[in-house]
Amino acid sequence: MSKILFAFTFCCLCLAGFAQTATSAKKPRIIILATGGTIAGEGAAADRAGYTAGKVPIEQLIGTIPTIKNVADISGEQIASVGSQDITIDIWLKLYNRINEIFEKNEADGIVITHGTDTQEETGYFLDLTIASKKPVVLTGSMRPSTAISADGPKNLYDAITVAASPKSWGKGVLVSFNESIYDARDVVKTSTTKVNGFMAPNLGPLGQVYDGHVEYYLQSLREVNVGTPFNLKGVTKLPKVEIAYMYADAPATAIDAFAASGIDGLVIAGVGNGNFNKAFYNGVDRAVKKGIVTVRSSRIISGRVLLEDEIDDAKLGTLVSDDLNPQKARVLLMLALTQTKNKAAIQKIFFTY
Ligand code: ASP
Repeated sequence: MSKILFAFTFCCLCLAGFAQTATSAKKPRIIILATGGTIAGEGAAADRAGYTAGKVPIEQLIGTIPTIKNVADISGEQIASVGSQDITIDIWLKLYNRINEIFEKNEADGIVITHGTDTQEETGYFLDLTIASKKPVVLTGSMRPSTAISADGPKNLYDAITVAASPKSWGKGVLVSFNESIYDARDVVKTSTTKVNGFMAPNLGPLGQVYDGHVEYYLQSLREVNVGTPFNLKGVTKLPKVEIAYMYADAPATAIDAFAASGIDGLVIAGVGNGNFNKAFYNGVDRAVKKGIVTVRSSRIISGRVLLEDEIDDAKLGTLVSDDLNPQKARVLLMLALTQTKNKAAIQKIFFTY
């Protein structure tokens, strides 16, 4: 008799516990900000490469992953509908302002941004440097359009929402979730023109992995800023103008001189090797620096740092170095640094900090 009573009481307690968990387990609120890209791409045929990026609206993309509703409460907003080759600074500022508004008004616990892969690393780093929140912001996209055989978009979107919904992702700044890897936006680089493993973090590797609804981190970036960011862009409508000149064997200084004549604030050199350049580039850089253009040496090499005073006498030429940022990321940081100061020593410090 006492055994029956014990079993009955145990069942009642289990049922009560289950009912409480079911009602108290609130799902994280995730807002998806869509900008277009191949993930929203539409092709004429599933077995052909040709397609137009940014055609499919966000509601339709969410509809491809119905079970995501078990992971989070999702809503979507269309910020832009472009291939990311057409991303502009205006779109960056629109994303920045909307993300700030969402977090300030506590409209969501995390944000996913769907974005073309071509400039995803630039948008990601821009937001990583400017968004002052510990809440997760996760970019994703796809290499195959939504109409392709084995489209990778739905899986990447499912994974990105899982990453943004995970408490483990707080305080990690802006992340890129792609092909089951989670990258720091500062380090991630697009490394394939067409393959589904389109991204790498060549210097450090991915921070973590996402698989089957599980998120696991292995690394933490020491360059993370989030709430401590000095780059507050509230009310800003324009950024300083910074361009990139690409060095190659026997390159002339034509591009440098043309950029300098166009009235730029900063210049990044995509140098060879350790940010090196030839005599023509040297003289072009010398002219640009003498005009007051802050010039940063980066490298077209996929990994490694650019060191001060190695083959180029930076003190004499008046140049700075990008540390381990590639040219397109060095441009983002230089634009933001120039919103704070024109002092070269201070800007070099910024490059060694963020
Ligand atoms: N051109 C496309 C874009 O960046 C490529 C992609 O999304 O994979 O929008």
